[in-house]
Amino acid sequence: MSDIPSDRPHVCLVIPVYNEEEVLPVLLEALARFQASRTERVSVLFVDDGSTDGTVSCIQTDTSGMTDIRLISFSRNFGHQIAVTAGLHLCDADAAIVMDADLQDPPEVAGRMMDVWRDGYDVVYGRRLEREEVGWLQRVTAAVYYRFFRSFTEMDAPVDTGDFRLVSRPVLEAFRDLGEQQPYVRGLIAWLGFRQTAVDYVRPGRAAGKTKYPWRRRFDLALDGLASFSGKPLRFAMRLGLFISAGSFLGLVWVLFTKYVFETAITGWASLIFAAFFFGGVQLFFLGVIGSYLARVYDEVKGRPRYVIRSSWRSDTVDLGHGP
Ligand code: UDP
Ligand code: MG
Repeated sequence: MSDIPSDRPHVCLVIPVYNEEEVLPVLLEALARFQASRTERVSVLFVDDGSTDGTVSCIQTDTSGMTDIRLISFSRNFGHQIAVTAGLHLCDADAAIVMDADLQDPPEVAGRMMDVWRDGYDVVYGRRLEREEVGWLQRVTAAVYYRFFRSFTEMDAPVDTGDFRLVSRPVLEAFRDLGEQQPYVRGLIAWLGFRQTAVDYVRPGRAAGKTKYPWRRRFDLALDGLASFSGKPLRFAMRLGLFISAGSFLGLVWVLFTKYVFETAITGWASLIFAAFFFGGVQLFFLGVIGSYLARVYDEVKGRPRYVIRSSWRSDTVDLGHGP
């Protein structure tokens, strides 16, 4: 592709880290090997999402032969999606690859992404053929969710992909113009379009340490994704409301009919109680749906910065090669 420098392209690995001191030594070693194996300039941009363990000092001192590292630290924990967003904003390379710190997104696959990018694609995402690392419940819920998301939002969103992907410079620039407060990065990149393709891989388990994505956060991420790409839940609430009102109107007609025509009043309160609880539940649920959209609007209106950077650092052994 014409806008990839032909002499020595620069690819930056954007890695959000949150309390990852256990996995960092293994990661840094793997990255050093990866750097040495590539002809491109490979730099790393760590985004420290408010870690409270030794993550920062580990990156600054124990780089295990790695060069060309930048680290920015948030003032507190802002969340994985915000950390990825910041990394993409601050990346100054010809392409960025977003990957997890725990080696679940293997550098070898990143290398394949770089090859495909050089063939002329702008977005190369990792598609999980198999997931060795998670239990059946998570596997099934994730698979159902991705398909649901795709049909619900009517967007050409790839299924079975997380945030592990390469994006080219033009995509990075377009991404900067998206000012959403609660970004759902994989959705936004699908929304941007460009030439997209997949590389398939088997997702291994975490190299060390524990997941930073408990079920509650996973659930929030899923809801964020739906709410930021579709207004359908709101329309569904309206349709359901109309359907129930029409149904109960017919029910009322039937009750009056039996009373005045057949002169047999329908008795019993148990069914009434259940109906009241049921519709109370439906109403609360949709108040919640409306509330969550309202909360998003409120966040947008406040227009706060999405993240606050406490400090930034750069390793002194920077490969100045042919950076942009
Ligand atoms: N992460 C982050 N901020 C958070 C939670 C996670 O930056 O609040 C990082 C974490 O360090 C890792 C990546 O996001 O590099 C993915 O997290 P994790 O591997 O725990 O998620 P899982 O693979 O279990 O879904
Ligand atoms: Mg992980």
